Amino acid sequence: MGSEEILDKKLEEAIWAAKCLFDRGRTTGSSGNISFRLGDSIYISGSGTCFGLLKKEEFAVLSLDGTLKNGVKPSKEWPLHLAVYEQRPDTAAVIHTHGRYAALWSFMEGLDERDCIPAHTPYLKMKVGRVGVVPYEKPGSKELFAAFEERVPFSDAYLLKQHGAVVPAESITEAFFGIEELEEGCFTAWNLKEKPVI
Ligand code: ZN
Repeated sequence: MGSEEILDKKLEEAIWAAKCLFDRGRTTGSSGNISFRLGDSIYISGSGTCFGLLKKEEFAVLSLDGTLKNGVKPSKEWPLHLAVYEQRPDTAAVIHTHGRYAALWSFMEGLDERDCIPAHTPYLKMKVGRVGVVPYEKPGSKELFAAFEERVPFSDAYLLKQHGAVVPAESITEAFFGIEELEEGCFTAWNLKEKPVI
């Protein structure tokens, strides 16, 4: 397969994952962003794009140091993605959404900072691993990116307080499975809170 063809396939996979998330209510409006790595470039959904309508030409291309390589403005949350690619070189894709239950669960107090979603079912641990908590900072702010960067090494995925989730994986489809599992894990945890668990 030529490199153009590989890029095309990855763009199609990212668009498919984004559309599935949108159709299932995991993102609304223009929230959420998705990226993948190909060689020394990061392809990330553009600023203001909608997961339900994403097009190939709406992906910004960044180098690993964050330099923009095409004319598309990247999502303002691109430093979250870059921090993961930098610190975890096995990462091939990152998805960030404002999932309803992920956001709700992030409001819980006293969460384990490096493993914040209870393993009521085994699937989150199997698919994703440990999910760490990132304290609240304004979306898109330097403070948020700094707080996030600090916590990247300590967990496999992340819950940004009062905001949403970030899931890295070794492929776009795995990141999609991961963000779905994280949302399900938060749904279960939210509904079982303050109830006895057998
Ligand atoms: Zn966000």
